[in-house]
Formats: sequence, C-alpha cells, structure tokens
Amino acid sequence: MALAAALTLGGCGTLVEAVPTVPSATLPPEAVGLPADAVPGPSADRASGTGAGAHEPLEDADVVDLVARMDAVLTEGTEDDWAAFFEGEELVEQQRRWFRAVREVPMDVRELLPDAVVERDTGDGTVVQLVLAHQVTGADPVPARESYRMTVRRAAGQEPLVSAVEGADRSDGHPQLWDLDAVDVTVTDQLVLLAPAGRRDDVTALLPGLESAVANVFLDFGTGGRQRLVVQLVDEATLRAIADDTGLAVDPAGVSITMQGLGERPAPGELGVGVSEERVDRVVLDLDLLVEELAFGTPPGGWGLMRHEAVHAVMDGDPDVRPPVWVWEGLAEWYGYRRDYVVDEAYRAALDPLGEEPLELPDSFSDYYYDSQEAGELAYASSAMVFSFLEQRFGFETARDVGVGLTRVDTWRDAADADALLVERTGLTLEALEREWAAWAAATYG
Ligand SMILES: [Zn+2]
Repeated sequence: MALAAALTLGGCGTLVEAVPTVPSATLPPEAVGLPADAVPGPSADRASGTGAGAHEPLEDADVVDLVARMDAVLTEGTEDDWAAFFEGEELVEQQRRWFRAVREVPMDVRELLPDAVVERDTGDGTVVQLVLAHQVTGADPVPARESYRMTVRRAAGQEPLVSAVEGADRSDGHPQLWDLDAVDVTVTDQLVLLAPAGRRDDVTALLPGLESAVANVFLDFGTGGRQRLVVQLVDEATLRAIADDTGLAVDPAGVSITMQGLGERPAPGELGVGVSEERVDRVVLDLDLLVEELAFGTPPGGWGLMRHEAVHAVMDGDPDVRPPVWVWEGLAEWYGYRRDYVVDEAYRAALDPLGEEPLELPDSFSDYYYDSQEAGELAYASSAMVFSFLEQRFGFETARDVGVGLTRVDTWRDAADADALLVERTGLTLEALEREWAAWAAATYG
C-alpha cells in the first residue's frame, strides 16, 4: 500500500496522516464525488449544442494525443509553444511562468503522462488528470509525481484548449512553488533552491547557513543516497498553500513534504500512471523568517529550521512504519536547535510552573499541529527535551542513534521493540526513559 504525500512542518511542524492514493485510469464517479448519473455516457450529445460554449468532449485517445503533444513541447519546445495550449490571459501568464521554472530546474526526468479522464463533459469541457513526472538531478531517487486536473475545451473542428488547471487531491504533490509564482533557481553541490523571482540577494545571504545545515545533516544522518536536497524558500502564505492543510492551528515555519514516486508509465496509447513505493522529499522554508534571523548572524552549524526539516527529509523511511510523533518531531527539533540556539526558555515553558504535573510525552498529532500555537510549541519543546536528556546523559551519538532507531520501530502498540532498542543503548525501558527524562527536566528547568 503506497503512501500519499505526508507532510511535516518544522520549527513548528506537522506530520499529517497520509491520504490514500487515487487509482489511476478513468476514475469511477464516486471517486470524484459525483452521483453516477451525473456523468454522461459516451453517447451524450451535448457536443452538438449551438451556443458559444459548444464543444466536443475528448475521447481517451484525444487525451493521450494532447498530453503527448504537451510533453513534446515541455521537452524541446518553446515557451510560446507551451502558451498555445492554454486560453485566458491569467492562465496563459501563469503557464508561461510554470514552463520557465520547470524547464530551469535541473531534472533527469521531466515528462507529462496521461493519467485519467475525471469527467467526460462538465459543460465547460473534459476534465483530464495528468502527471508531471520529474526527477530533480542529484536529489530524487525516483521521479516524483505531481498531478494536475485540466479542463480541456474543444470547439467543433478546432484544437483543444486548456481553460483551467488545478490540483487533484491532498496526495497529489500540488501545488509546488512553480504553480504559484515565478521562480529563480539556484543549484549548489548540496542544494537545489527554488525562490520567488526577485529574491536572489536574500537567497545569496542565506546560502551559507543553508549549506552548512544540510552538510551537517548529511554527515550525522547520512544522505540516503542523495547528493542534494530540493528546498523551496517562500513567503508565509505560499508556505501554507504548499503545506495544503487547512486544519493547521500552528504557524508553520517550514514543512517537509513527501511526494509519491512514479510507478509504471501508461502503456502506449493508454491512460493510467502508477505509483512507486519509493518517495521523494521536498523541503519548504519561510524565507522571510530566515531573512529576519540574518540580523543575528549565520549560525556556524547552519539554520536550525533547515537542520530540522533536513532531518525529516533524510529520515523519511518505510511508509508503513509510523513512529509516535514525539520521536519524529523531537529528533528533528533537538538536532535543529541543539547548538547555536538558546532553547532554555522554550524548555522551561514546557514544565508546569507549580512543579505538580509531571511531564508527559505528547502523543497525538493534535498536540503538535491542530490544537493551538501554544500547544504546538509545548509539544515540540517537550519532545526535543527527550533527546537533550539523552545527549546529556549518554552523549550525542547515543541520542541520535536512539532517535534514528526509534523512527524505525514498528511495534508501538506494545513497546517491546522500542524497549529492546532503548535497553541495548541506554539500559532504560521506554517507561524508565520517560520517568528519568521528566525528573531531569524538572531538576534542570523547573
Ligand atoms: Zn518537524
């Protein structure tokens, strides 16, 4: 069972439950929320209407043909060729920006594939789903999938034109920065940076702290076979749009997104794009927040926010293993800010001022992301503190290795595997760890 996009906000961050993937090929009506009788059959005859909006719905073969022509232009055509597929001034301008950005990012695979007919005839045209398969050079182990739904209108006797473009669902990898803004691309040894056009000076100023953060994470956690991370630097509103989670109660400072990998391509002349078990990571950071931090100088170990999200990106492992959220966020938050930053105040705030309520490990996604900003900050601080405790008591390597090990433990219903791993490295069971950590926190920060 493949996972859809999961996302993690960092600094304040989130791990969102995965959405089941949408099967490829023509979607049944219930999959797109329509009553079965709302979808006209092949014999529907609205195409012969005589109004200004008269159009001929696309057959599957027309969709395959259209996407093949779009793919050819994306591969070797010009921006004007691309713009000619679309209608409406705003959409054409947006697509020109999209084309420039997607062509500028270095990719080993850059390909459009026909996936499904979502609705044969909406009255405005045929809604088709297609996939941008893209493998960023040096960064992605397999090509990633970003899905689009395009409304295509074909006037009688004319070439079809795309009149609307949107995402498909929560698991679609949409939107990326190139869907929202004009993009400047910066490629270094370890980063592929995408930022809104016009922010080059800010990107240049932030670059040393981004590179040093990623270099440290690669050194301490491994690269997972990558040479680079793809990082999108954006403003707050764009960050929220890319995070694509309307339920968030915390203000995300960054997000690490997992995109679906590309599975099998459609057979020649057919629709349907497969999903791979492998996943692809995208980090998104609040550009303006980092620019504000520049006033304090670049931390030698790199920006804490970049370190936090990079840990998520390189730790992204088996999609079927779901560690408790405190392991996932605590490891990233501790590593992000364990040096170069002062965390005492945040840690103190996590303790009961009266010293009566013992610390507990926050164990629900709501604590971190959906209840309130304050609850989120406390959840991050208390879970990071677990790893600060482990580092104080057993050293950096043990704290890191325990964190990495716990993210791979798959039997959290009864803590047996977690206990075995912890006892081997620290002599403590999970229960004992929780007790000792709470006592240490009270003694240190109470
Ligand atoms: Zn996080």
